[in-house]
Amino acid sequence: MPGSPQPDPPEDFNQAPPLGDVDLFAIDRPLQEAVAANGAGAEAQALTSFGRHWGRAELIEQARLADENPPRLDAGIVEFHAAYHRFMTDSMAAGLHAMTWRADATAEAAPAEVARAARYFMVAQVESGHMCPITMTRASVAALAGEPALAVMVMPKIISRSYDRSSRPWWEKSAMTLGMGMTERQGGTDVRANRTRAVTDGDGYRITGEKWFMSAPMSDAFLVLAQAQGGLTCFFMPRFRPDSSVNALHFRKLKDKTGNRSNASTEVEFSNAYALRVGEEGKGIRTILKMVQMTRLDCAIASTGLMRAALVQALHNARHRRVFGKRLLEQPMMRSVLADLALEVEGALALVMRLCRAVDLAARDESEASLARLLTPAAKYWICKAAPAFAYEAMECLGGNGYVEESSILPRLFREAPVNAIWEGSGNVMCLDVLRAMRSEGGGAQATLSGLSRAAAGLAGAGEAVQLIQRSFTGDNAEAQARTAVERLALLAASAALHRSAPDIAAIFARTRLAGRRGANFGTSDLSDEEAAMLLARVLP
Ligand SMILES: Cc1cc2nc3c(=O)[nH]c(=O)nc-3n(C[C@H](O)[C@H](O)[C@H](O)COP(=O)(O)OP(=O)(O)OC[C@H]3O[C@@H](n4cnc5c(N)ncnc54)[C@H](O)[C@@H]3O)c2cc1C
Repeated sequence: MPGSPQPDPPEDFNQAPPLGDVDLFAIDRPLQEAVAANGAGAEAQALTSFGRHWGRAELIEQARLADENPPRLDAGIVEFHAAYHRFMTDSMAAGLHAMTWRADATAEAAPAEVARAARYFMVAQVESGHMCPITMTRASVAALAGEPALAVMVMPKIISRSYDRSSRPWWEKSAMTLGMGMTERQGGTDVRANRTRAVTDGDGYRITGEKWFMSAPMSDAFLVLAQAQGGLTCFFMPRFRPDSSVNALHFRKLKDKTGNRSNASTEVEFSNAYALRVGEEGKGIRTILKMVQMTRLDCAIASTGLMRAALVQALHNARHRRVFGKRLLEQPMMRSVLADLALEVEGALALVMRLCRAVDLAARDESEASLARLLTPAAKYWICKAAPAFAYEAMECLGGNGYVEESSILPRLFREAPVNAIWEGSGNVMCLDVLRAMRSEGGGAQATLSGLSRAAAGLAGAGEAVQLIQRSFTGDNAEAQARTAVERLALLAASAALHRSAPDIAAIFARTRLAGRRGANFGTSDLSDEEAAMLLARVLP
């Protein structure tokens, strides 16, 4: 009837429905291609069942619960929400913490890294906090391998897949997890300035001092740096002494963090805490760097997963939300933004999977070892620093709903995004590490650069990028210019990796990222309609 009020629209009017249950592997064409291009094509079926498990909407709800109910410190014990334990159980059952290792602390046959990274990337799309202990446990083996007698004792518990949350000595448990304590109040980057001290005591050491950050405090043991008589040394510090009494680790408080809230990070004091040496006295940095090299690669994989999760939400919304009579996805500028976001994930994913391939082959191929050494910090630098801006842009694609905790997962992703760039060596530190690798690896780094140049041959901007990298790293002002050079190096390596796994995408990536005059924001890559359509079709079927 004219003049009568319109009935209220239904609550879900012009709102995107929930994504629902998906198979995180089957819907992700770039992932399938990167897995196949890096030698793990035979994993496809296993990855599909993994993707179905982790793609259930119910797990997104569990991730929300884990985030909204952060751990609490109570009488020396840190209590986690049930959802956190659930994620630990599932990730450990899948072997994410150990599937790349054999019981003798050596690497599994290739393509174990690629197969694990594909899984890790999918889990990162769901819940990141619990991945901190998963990553540290996995990476600790690289350092423990330097102390074979100790490794032989702990490996059966490390590779076990049955998560044991109980607070008991590690040898009584079905499985153990490990954390890491390097950072002190006066410095995290400059660990040589560590003040924590270690003195010999019988077969072991007594450690006294404090760590300003030590995450996953309920781990069964920690790899800790402390000053021994022979200099800075790496130690294995269990939470219980050999006589089963509680070791002298006193958690002072939990950090109140911007994101990564389901994971606990403590300030901790050691008062004559029992520990065993790992590697030689005075070689602590060299020993623990073997672990850190692996955690850095995980940071890059996790940030790529986070970006993929944000992209999927943004695209899903744009497929449903209507503005000015059209779906958002049909609006040319929104297509440009989304396709540019998709292109970023394509490059990041191709690069991390290529790096995992290099780790898979490193033990028997020196050139792959050099590639992993040079490009891991470069990838961490570029990808982890891209993630916060990416998450923000994806959030804006959802408009106001993107900013509201109850209506999307974007706020959680946004809060999580910066941490991977900050820990395990912050941005500048990654660039200094690339510089160090360029100088110390000598021939190896040069050979890697030549290899990238060949692999990216014919791609727009590749030749200029190689020249810029060479010039910057050998010039007088190398340190001041390192960010420019490292970013180029990562983009060149991503272009080369895409050239192998998805040549059509490589051409667009190189044109826009290596040769282009792209602006500061996503959506400024001047993609053609056809290119945007191709990129978007690859994100979600
Ligand atoms: C949530 C969370 C959990 C953590 N968990 C752990 C843990 O479990 N174990 C652990 O050991 N640590 C942990 N950390 C600590 C983390 O690794 C450090 O914060 C990080 O390494 C940086 O050290 P810092 O905070 O002392 O900063 P600083 O070393 O003071 O660095 C500050 C800034 O200066 C830059 N910088 C440093 N040196 C140079 C240089 N030469 N030239 C130019 N720029 C430079 C850095 O890139 C950084 O941006 C955690 C941190 C966070 C936020």
